[in-house]
Amino acid sequence: MDKYILAIDAGTTSSRTILFDKNAKPIEIAQYEFNQFFPKEGWVEHDPLEIWNTQLKAITDVIKKSKIDPKNIDSIGITNQRETTVIWNKDTGQPVYNAIVWQDRRTASFCDKLKEENKSELIQNKTGLVIDAYFSGTKIKWILDSNSEIRQQADKGQLIFGTIDTWLIWNLSKGKYHLTDPSNASRTLLYNIKDDMWDDELLEIFDVPRNILPKVVDSSAISAYIDEEILGIKIPIAGIAGDQQAALFGQLCINPGDIKNTYGTGCFCMMNTGKSAVKSKNKMLSTIAWRINGELTYALEGSVFVAGALIQWLRDKLSIIKDAPEVENLANTVKDNGGVTFIPALSGLAAPYWDPYAQGTIFGITRGTENGHIARAALESIALRTRDIIIEMQKDANINFTNLKVDGGASNNNLLMQIQSDLLQTNVTRPKTTETTALGAAFLAGLASGFWKNISDLNDLWIEDRSFNPNLKNDSTQIINLWETRINKLLKVNE
Ligand code: ADP
Repeated sequence: MDKYILAIDAGTTSSRTILFDKNAKPIEIAQYEFNQFFPKEGWVEHDPLEIWNTQLKAITDVIKKSKIDPKNIDSIGITNQRETTVIWNKDTGQPVYNAIVWQDRRTASFCDKLKEENKSELIQNKTGLVIDAYFSGTKIKWILDSNSEIRQQADKGQLIFGTIDTWLIWNLSKGKYHLTDPSNASRTLLYNIKDDMWDDELLEIFDVPRNILPKVVDSSAISAYIDEEILGIKIPIAGIAGDQQAALFGQLCINPGDIKNTYGTGCFCMMNTGKSAVKSKNKMLSTIAWRINGELTYALEGSVFVAGALIQWLRDKLSIIKDAPEVENLANTVKDNGGVTFIPALSGLAAPYWDPYAQGTIFGITRGTENGHIARAALESIALRTRDIIIEMQKDANINFTNLKVDGGASNNNLLMQIQSDLLQTNVTRPKTTETTALGAAFLAGLASGFWKNISDLNDLWIEDRSFNPNLKNDSTQIINLWETRINKLLKVNE
């Protein structure tokens, strides 16, 4: 009988479930969006029960639609939006507050206070992270401090905390398992990524009682079972990883120097740094990629806030294209950028510039400038921001890479991928399966259960769609020189 892996992909805007067969082919998918709540400026919340209910519906739908007997589900892999924080009562299963989402900025002033108290160095050394409202630690503290009763219940051991992986596993097992994996734990600001454990000094700084924390298990291991009542049979949960780390694994970036970039609304770039937690000099994040057989693999992470979002801006505000893919045709109507440089600082500039006040700017407009030049410069800017990050990552890790693996909506743009290859002077490879996040969770689960024997089994399943090589005819020197001069000009304006 054919067996399958069920991948749960708990995203920021929707709950998805994908069934993969032995050839790692997605054979069925179900997806439900859930509500986003914005109770105040800068606040973003989800209803944890809605996340659970939509996820459960996506799971049962996939099984119904595929007509597969749940007996033939080998195991389950979970991947999730990271950092989003839930605290709930362990007897009733009721959350004490909405989930505070990774995008939520409400704890920014507490983060400023920690920075003023010179805690940055200590926290970076232990967690690999910068102090920021993005991570779970300050969100946990905020929920506990929001009401004295909540704090008391936590101290009495009545409450437990989890990121979305933990919350779903707890619900899938009807409260039997309270656990997470190191890729998720390493995004809380409470986890020591070198000692591979929750850290008492950090718990004190963030005022978080140890008894609310989940147990940390391997990312690829049979660590829990879903309750029989859910699908009529106990099924092992064998893979857990945060979304970006799962995508890194799904792209089979399993050796030091392997690197992937996801071109979505923003870009998420991750480089495998092997057994060493690299301390970044450029405020990149150092994080745990996964733990397999008790052994940690680390990664460096850098992001570009505005990538596909820039293409949306061309579509919705400048109205020079009707849909995102059209940008490629428009950019191909001209042979080069015509001297135009687009600095895509629509929400400031992140690594390695870190200027939150920088604003989007188009340099070099003349009477000869056409829409095509703007479109081309916009695509170049996405590839240039990615190059900025990759260059710094290589310096931080002291590793040179040879191939960039890509995924995400905008990676379907062939011109963008060619520009990326020319700018980096390296190969860029796009896989056939663009569901790399869910695939990573499935790979982690299938390796633990024996569904796939080993990594070389997986190598045969990673199928290339297209590879882009540097084109010697495309000289990128002008693009890069203009970029460097002009971005420095822009940064000076804010000094
Ligand atoms: P997310 O997961 O962040 O929602 P996706 O991976 O679904 O993002 O990609 C969607 C983004 O990619 C959108 O911002 C869209 O503008 C951009 N995009 C999609 N197709 C193309 C394309 N062919 N060229 C350029 N950008 C594209």
